[in-house]
Order: sequence, then structure tokens, then C-alpha cells
Amino acid sequence: TAAARKLPPGAAALDLPLAQAGTRLGAANIGRLEKLGLLTIGDALRHIPYRHHDFSQIVPITELRPGEEQTIRGTVDRAREIRMGRGGRMRSAEVSVSDQSGATLRVIWFNQPFIARQLPIGAEIALSGTVTVYRGRPTLQNPEFELLQPAVNGAQAHTGRMIPVYRLTKGLPQRTLRGLISGLLDRFADRIEDPLPADIRERHDLLGLVEATRQVHYPDDQARLAGARRRLAFDELLAIQIRVAGRKREWQEQGDAARIEQHDAADAFLVSLPYTLTGAQRRVLSELRADLRRTLPMSRLLEGDVGSGKTVVALAAMLSAVASGYQSVLMAPTEVLAEQHYRTLTALLSGGDGVSSGASGGASGGASGGTEQLLDGLVTVPGIGQIRIVLLTGSTKAKQRRDAVEAIRHGGAHIIVGTHALIQEEVGYHRLGLAIVDEQHRFGVKQRGALREKGRAGGDWSGTPHLLVMTATPIPRSLALTVHGDLDLSVIDEMPPGRIPIETRWLQPARRAEAFEALRAEVEAGRQAFVICPLVEGSETIVSRAATEEYERLRTEQFPELADRIALLHGRMSGRDKDAAMRRFAANDSSILVSTAVVEVGIDIPNATVMVIEGADRFGLAQLHQFRGRVGRGEHASTCFLLADDPTPEAQQRLGVMERTSDGFELAEADLKLRGPGEIYGTEQSGYGDMRVASLLDGRLIDATRREAERLIAADPELKAAEHQKLRYAVLERTEDVRTEMH
Ligand code: ADP
Ligand code: MG
Repeated sequence: TAAARKLPPGAAALDLPLAQAGTRLGAANIGRLEKLGLLTIGDALRHIPYRHHDFSQIVPITELRPGEEQTIRGTVDRAREIRMGRGGRMRSAEVSVSDQSGATLRVIWFNQPFIARQLPIGAEIALSGTVTVYRGRPTLQNPEFELLQPAVNGAQAHTGRMIPVYRLTKGLPQRTLRGLISGLLDRFADRIEDPLPADIRERHDLLGLVEATRQVHYPDDQARLAGARRRLAFDELLAIQIRVAGRKREWQEQGDAARIEQHDAADAFLVSLPYTLTGAQRRVLSELRADLRRTLPMSRLLEGDVGSGKTVVALAAMLSAVASGYQSVLMAPTEVLAEQHYRTLTALLSGGDGVSSGASGGASGGASGGTEQLLDGLVTVPGIGQIRIVLLTGSTKAKQRRDAVEAIRHGGAHIIVGTHALIQEEVGYHRLGLAIVDEQHRFGVKQRGALREKGRAGGDWSGTPHLLVMTATPIPRSLALTVHGDLDLSVIDEMPPGRIPIETRWLQPARRAEAFEALRAEVEAGRQAFVICPLVEGSETIVSRAATEEYERLRTEQFPELADRIALLHGRMSGRDKDAAMRRFAANDSSILVSTAVVEVGIDIPNATVMVIEGADRFGLAQLHQFRGRVGRGEHASTCFLLADDPTPEAQQRLGVMERTSDGFELAEADLKLRGPGEIYGTEQSGYGDMRVASLLDGRLIDATRREAERLIAADPELKAAEHQKLRYAVLERTEDVRTEMH
């Protein structure tokens, strides 16, 4: 909270709680502001509007165009409260306004009768909103308004200005927040201290922070607004880059990683595979090996689109670690995925193909109680001998857990697969040389750090483990350089040969039957299908109930003849049931898997050729792409159907992009462009969730801040110099958990 913050010299007033800012706000509003994260004066000044009404562009009433957002200026001719709706229960305000063009405009505020009393006859007002037509006349419904004459609240009632529009919370009117912030700007903006050293400001031609803050709320014009946003974006990106540069530097100071250079067993294993590695897989593997032989710990991000074959590359690296005398861990975000990895690895190393292992019955671990022998995960690897692979997840049973933890601690376990369970307190490692994190976007920086610490606290050998994080979410280069800037980047940009492109069809509601007809035809031909249920608002319970309903509908109405070949997968099922459902599907004991988003990551079923995504408009692009990647993995052509009842314009754009391309990188770029700042893919979990202004597509600004950050960190690694104090504080404040890392 505010009081606990370390204050920079001189800026104390900005850290005053809003209740003490002399604003006459009631406790209820203070509470609402708190919900928005606005506790102090400084917080409020940093509450950046997400857009502005341009009250400077006044349109005569006679020239209003329906459907467009426009601003008019006129005089109140009449203002009254009216009753509408059934039984006249809804009280609203109805106002008639005329302007110099002589025309009049009807304005309605539903459910806000009090507005009629705020607008005296003869008052001059500005109104901004989307024009509709009612009984042949132009109308504004619930528009934004400003009372120009007589002026209220002095400061904000500016004509010809751009007026900020803020993110709100329930019960907090736009006008109240506007009044608050504009008053605080008048009284406190001058006290904002600019943390940027002057030379940086000059080099990049940036507005001062005081001016930028004023202009971002109440800009003089569009150009000033752009300048203000650029300055604030610079600060955000610079903070991230400083944090990343600092972390990388600290990281690279460690020279205690394992030297891993025994590759014969891994090479022999690769030769034994039924396929040869793609060029991209080979290139990435040699990048990994170049890192592994050094005692500087590897810190690498492996990007490879869904199905590009990351697992086998990871396994080859893990074998090299084992052959060199170290343990490796592979951490996955979900139990289903960890179990699949465990199955795949065990099968691959026992000479299977890693796919039919589900069919072999119970190679899966965890709660399902598969055959003990495979649960032991003992395999013989030519060139190494017998090694043990263990699985550790949240639902690993007590006895197995004890055995696994014991084996991990004393070195009996060589390759360790699991979920977050792997970084729990009780789990200590013997000689952890290599840590691999799959589907990195599901994990945060903290979990990565925790894995590293596990190596440093090793039993027989301790040192920093080499770290490889893998993601199937292609991240545009600009984003990779910011959010993951402390990682080196390897990319598998080539698919294994022989993949047949997936056809993607976005069907209008009237044609949804086509999807299920195609599904039936494929199932009759022996193939399998996924049906993904819409993302519904609410708890996991509600989501799971919706999936259960869809499952019942398919069994009773759509495909009664297939009723016993339909399986269900959702988050409320026990680990055992989830696993059983997956196993049945993997073994082709069921033909249709009805699932919630839990199936999203990593499931590999080459016989599946149909993906039906219900409520596709509710999912983001990255997730849709992940779902689609569940099919198209085998020898048969696959189709992905996108079903959406009533997609918003933005959702339509997403679905259109999905139809047009299946290139993950293209999708990721499109995703960034379609989303606003602050909800950018992959940032939330990394602790950069509150980027408010910066665009991660702004490559030039990213490069500029990166260069400045590196310069700063090279000269003053901990920003200890007097001229960097304010900057250091600003970085700390912006990036919460950096505190523990930078102290
Ligand atoms: P992802 O990168 O999405 O994790 P996987 O590692 O699960 O992809 O691999 C997808 C499928 O491709 C697996 O069935 C795997 O056996 C297969 N595969 C991997 N590499 C190759 C290759 N070079 N040639 C043919 N098939 C491959
Ligand atoms: Mg994978």
C-alpha cells in the first residue's frame, strides 16, 4: 500500500491517499477508486484515458450522420424527466437541444432522470455520442456531455478541447472521475518528478513528464497527445528493458553451470527414430549444445509452432545431460500435459513411437494407476544404460510421491517430468543440470527462478541449471525482445515433412450442421474429432457444466448412434477421470472428445482430423491456434470448424484471420494488432500486465529503450548513481517483483 512504499525525495505529496487529497469524495467513491487500483494521488494522475472525445470537432445537427460518433454544441431548449418502459418504471431524462444550424436534436439518458435537473433551459452544452435515428429524427442516447455555459467545475468545462475517457468501475461515473483527475492535475501535476536523465530525454526528443501527464489527459491537439503517449510509452518500455537487462546481467555473472558435452547417446537415440530431424530441429539442437558445453548457464527460449517437434529436441538435450552425469527436469503447465510428456518420453526411450503408448494401456502415470513397471519409468538407453524417468504432479499418490521425491533427491531419477509439483519446497535435487519448461506462457518469471534455485540447492552437486523454456505460441520478435529479453532465442520455423495443411472454415450459424456432418463422415471413416465448448463466464464449475451439457446433447441428439464413443474432458473431473478420458481417446476407444479449454496444450493424437470449436468468438487468436494445432498431425487431411453465434466485429476479424492463415507468427502479429495495449499476449503472466501505453509493435521505440537500458546497466548496474535514483525508483515501482531481484 501507499504507506509501505519507499518514497523518493520530494514526491511525497503524490503518495498521499486520495482520501486526503482534499477532493470532497465520499467513502463510497474512494472505495470504487480503490477497485480501479487508484489509491494515491499519483495513481490517479497515472490513470491514463484509453481514448478521448474530440470536443474540438463540432458538427452541426443538420450534418450528423447516423452510426458515427460525433460531437455537437447547442442550447438546451427543454429538459424533463420522463417515464418509459413497462408501467413507466424506467425514469429517464429527455432533453431537446438546438444549435446554430437551427435544427433540434432529441437526447435521452435512460435511467438517469437526474441529468434533466443538471441542464437548465438556455444552458450551452456539448454532447458527444453515436447518433441514432428515432422516428426519422437524429437522436443521441446516453451521450457524454459537458456543460459549457454556465460553467461548472471550472477546469473541465472547456470548449474546443479533447476530453478524456477513462476506464471505470461499477458505480463510478465518468464525470466524477474526470472531475477528480482534472482537479488533481491542476493542484499536483507540477510535483511530478521526471525520472529520466536529461540526456536521454534530449536524445529521443521526449516531452517532460509533467507536460506529458497533462497532455495525455487533456491534450491540446492530436499531435500533443501522440507526443505525450510516446513519452509515457518510453518510460514503460525502458522500465521493462532495465529490468530485463539487469536480470540477464545478474544471470550471466553465474559461471557455475554444468558442462554437458556427452552427445553420443543422444545421437544414437536420434538415429533410432522412425524419422529424421528437420533442418530447423537440427539447427536448434546445435544451438542448445553450444550453450550446454559452457559453464555460463543457458537461458534460452525455444519457439516452435504447434507440432513443429520441440519435444524430441528437448529429449535429446536431456539425454546429453544424463549422459554427462546430471539430472534433467521437464516441467509442464498441466497434469494432462505432464502425463503425456511422461508417456511420450518413456515410449520413445523404450523404442516406441511415442504416439501409440496410450494404446499400450496405462503407460500414463499419476492417478490412473497404470502398470507399475511403466510407472517406474525404467528404460535402457544405448550408450548410457538403465535410466529412470519419474513423473511428479499434484495428483501423484502418496506412496509414489514419496518414491519419486526420494529418487529425485538421491539421484535415482534421471529424467523428471511433472507440473508445478516439481518446484515445491519438499523436492530437492541431486544434480540438476538442465531444466526445461514447456509452454512457457503458462508460467511466470517466478517459476523459472524457482527451478534455477533448485539446482543451486543441489544435494550432490550444486550449480545453476541450464534453462530452456519452450513455447508453441509464436511471439513476434519485438515482444520476444522485451518480455523475454533476458532469454536467447531459438526458433523451429519448419514443420516436419508430409503434414497436410489444415482447412479452416468459419461457418455462419445457419450452416453449423455442416460441421457436424463432416465430423460424422470422418468418424465413420475411422478418424477422431474434438468438440471444444465455448468459454463461458464464471467458475470452472460453470464451464464444466456447459461442457457436460454439450456432451449430453451430442450423445442424445446429434450422434445417438455414437453415444458410447463420445468422451468428456473438463476441469472439474478428477485427475484420474481426466486421464482416463484422454487415454481412451488416445487409444481410439472413443471417437469424439468433448472438452473445455483444458485440452488446449500439447495433446498429440495423429488420428484426429476434425476440430469443432463452439463459441469460437470467445477465444483469443492464440488459443484458437492452439486448438487447431490438435489436428493435422497425421497422414489424413484435417478440418477446423469455427462456430460463432453472434461475433462482435473484433471477433469477426479474429475468425477471418484464422481462416486466412495457419502461420503462427502471422497470427501472433495479427493478435498484437487486434488487441489494445495492456492485454497483450504473454505479458500478463510475465509480470508486465500493466503496460498501459506502450505498443509492442513499436519496434523503433523498443529498440531505442533497449539500447538505453543496456547503456544504463553497463554504466551503473544497480542504478546507484545519484542521477539515477529517481529512475531506479520508477523502475521498481513499475515492476513489482524486481524489488527482490535488484535490491
Ligand atoms: P510440439 O512442438 O507442438 O511440442 P511435438 O514435439 O509434440 O510438437 O511433435 C509433434 C509430432 O511430430 C509428434 O508426433 C512427433 O513425433 C512428430 N515429429 C517430431 N519431429 C518430427 C520429424 N522431424 N519428422 C516427422 N515427425 C516428427
Ligand atoms: Mg509440445
